[in-house]
Amino acid sequence: MAGRVVVVSGPSGVGKGTVIRALLGRRPELFLSVSATTRPRRPDEVHGVHYRFLDDAAFDALARSGGLLEWADYAGRRYGTPAAPVMEATAAGADVLLEIEVQGAGQVRERCPGALLILIVPPSLDALAERLHRRGTEEPEHVAARLEAARRELAQAGLFDHVVVNDRLEDAVDELDRIIGASRR
Ligand code: 5GP
Repeated sequence: MAGRVVVVSGPSGVGKGTVIRALLGRRPELFLSVSATTRPRRPDEVHGVHYRFLDDAAFDALARSGGLLEWADYAGRRYGTPAAPVMEATAAGADVLLEIEVQGAGQVRERCPGALLILIVPPSLDALAERLHRRGTEEPEHVAARLEAARRELAQAGLFDHVVVNDRLEDAVDELDRIIGASRR
């Protein structure tokens, strides 16, 4: 049986990465897609592990050759899902997790009708703003762009099959695990 595409979306700072790491600890059979991006690498990130860091020309070439399942402009940078690894893993029967923003989730909805779309949301926008400032990975003007994007993303909740509130990490992971388990039957 072919595997499914499982999209986990949510605004920057909502804790998607942490929730997904915990989920992969419980479900090591899931395959996590590595995105391509034109955003600069952060000091703790590894090329090929966290992202494929590409310059604009290389990203353009990949997009133009049809090599991306979806892609989006986000806070002034481009991010996209390389299609080949997703196709190979699903063909081999693995479920593939995409951690992507909401515009990309909409494209996956159109291109992969069987995909499961899950949106992770913060308990409130204030809580999200506080988290983004505390995380300290972005310049203040980029934090503002990310909060603006978050407002737009939360307004798209209707696109998703499930919405999970990340208030307590363990509860959010339990919920995500339950949704993925239930949808396999
Ligand atoms: P960050 O710069 O914080 O790593 O990611 C910014 C946003 O881009 C996050 O919401 C993240 O989920 C999203 N993102 C990461 N990879 C992709 C991708 O391949 N496609 C799309 N559409 N969004 C992505």
